[in-house]
Amino acid sequence: MESTLKRTWAVIDLDALKENYDKLRRHIGPGVKFLGVVKADAYGHGAIQVSRVLQRCGADYLAVSSADEAVELRRGGITMPILILGHTPKEQVENLIRNNITQAVTCRAKALEYSEEAVRCGGTLKIHIKVDTGMSRLGYLVAGDHFATGVEGICESCRLPGLDAEGIFTHFAVSDEEDEESREYTREQFALFTAVIEKVEEKLGRKFRLRHCANSGAVANWPEMLLDMVRPGLLVYGCGEGARKLGLRPVMRLMTSISTTKTYGPGTSVSYGRIFRTERTTRMGVVPYGYADGFFRSLSGRCSLMTAQGPAPQRGRICMDMCMIDLTDLPEVDVGDEVEVFGPHNPVEELAALAGTIPYELTCAVSKRVPRVYFENGKETERELLLRF
Ligand SMILES: *Cc1c(COP(=O)(O)O)cnc(C)c1O
Repeated sequence: MESTLKRTWAVIDLDALKENYDKLRRHIGPGVKFLGVVKADAYGHGAIQVSRVLQRCGADYLAVSSADEAVELRRGGITMPILILGHTPKEQVENLIRNNITQAVTCRAKALEYSEEAVRCGGTLKIHIKVDTGMSRLGYLVAGDHFATGVEGICESCRLPGLDAEGIFTHFAVSDEEDEESREYTREQFALFTAVIEKVEEKLGRKFRLRHCANSGAVANWPEMLLDMVRPGLLVYGCGEGARKLGLRPVMRLMTSISTTKTYGPGTSVSYGRIFRTERTTRMGVVPYGYADGFFRSLSGRCSLMTAQGPAPQRGRICMDMCMIDLTDLPEVDVGDEVEVFGPHNPVEELAALAGTIPYELTCAVSKRVPRVYFENGKETERELLLRF
């Protein structure tokens, strides 16, 4: 591990995570439960470490995207409720029941399969019904002409043996967008969701214990849509527009270091493809951070990394294991100095915008070669290297 530190590493600030949780808790108010989305290894931050903090802080639920991710958390000592948002093959039902894991149910066919399996193994599977109100991805179709059959399908599913329909949820497509068309779409999704719930509860003669729809965008922008429980991911990690608005702090700080500096005369081509040529005497730093670490090659020549003296423009093609940054105007920066790829001094949102993508993709892309170093109460508490030795 020592060998890989001082190369490229991700500092995970668990104090920022706790602070974000506390702020979000205060923001949503006392009557609303909190589900933290920790799928995809907690957006690259480390699912077990993040979940432990959320569990200790008193979060109510966690969500992941697959049975494997859920079981990983159980093995890591997480005892709080976990919801699987994505697809789980029916062969996993027994495993889910044994591990007390809740499964999203997205259509009648799945409900029937899960019910059969639960009955066969003599257990009860806790489920949350997923309603498609306009994301057009997973979920019972309920829009327009599908309303009655959708409601009927949900009711049928909830009555099946071996299933306990604890919750019902939907997912927004544009809750983080500010334009009026998007806002209207979100209002329509919410109205359809509440109409479905009302009808289903009336037909079943019982209430769902957990109705939820608010992802990060809705938590930040739609206080009237929090219902029984909120379901943020990105906000927890202090990323995105909403995080700025709510005063949340980025949890990940991706760091690299200067391995070598070299000075070239004018007219020297740099890196593969020779897309960059020096125009003046240029002092170039080589940093051990390339696309195999999660840097996007499409950002070649289009971004800066942050040194202690200021931004250093990235030059030439980004390679697999390294890239070059221009230190000509930063004479104080030298070999061994730390450089921030993204974090508090180089916002991940800006880097994402330059790459034509969203911050989610950048934190998820930090590869297993990059060790995560955890800080709590200002002190390093754990290092995790995902490479196998
Ligand atoms: C990923 C996901 C979330 C969290 O989304 P954020 O935008 O990160 O808050 C919530 N709900 C579902 C169904 C998801 O897939």
